[in-house]
Amino acid sequence: MYYPEPIAKLIDAFTHLPGVGPKTAGRLAFHVLRMQEDDVIDFAKALVNVKRNLHYCSICGNITDADPCQICQDKTRDASIICVVQEPKDLVAMERTREFNGYYHVLHGAISPIEGIGPEEIKLKELLNRLSDERVQELILATNPNIEGEATAMYISRLVKPFNLRVTRIAHGLPVGGDLEYADEVTLSKALEGRREL
Ligand SMILES: [Zn+2]
Repeated sequence: MYYPEPIAKLIDAFTHLPGVGPKTAGRLAFHVLRMQEDDVIDFAKALVNVKRNLHYCSICGNITDADPCQICQDKTRDASIICVVQEPKDLVAMERTREFNGYYHVLHGAISPIEGIGPEEIKLKELLNRLSDERVQELILATNPNIEGEATAMYISRLVKPFNLRVTRIAHGLPVGGDLEYADEVTLSKALEGRREL
């Protein structure tokens, strides 16, 4: 250990973040050391608040500080369509397109046999529960255009067969192997527009 313990601890904490290696973690930690104390306190508070004050919406699984979330509370939305996404950040990406006015369901993951993530590990039961609402007529499967996302979409389309819904998959044109959240609004709007029946 070449660093005093507080800084070593901070470096270690940063390395737990995705995409942050030891070098970057060191740079970030020393940056924190140079920051104004008030800014550091605000930053620390923001970290704690995100854990303490945010929950998952009991209906759709979105992250929210109110339950149900703002979207689920919005009665002006179209209750006939539910758009299924993998992560809360994908929901945000869909919202940014301003093209979708239905409700959402966040799976919190995708089926991945390689990583040992089975259907029970994602929020599928919660999705099925919502389908007993007779107003729901269409499910848009907007999982990521990669192997896990495709497998999850196929699994869901088979799972919901008994409900006689229109099940659609967002169109490609999205970069294959990519994440929904990185698609620009135009690409994502087009993908939504060009969705096809499954
Ligand atoms: Zn919600």
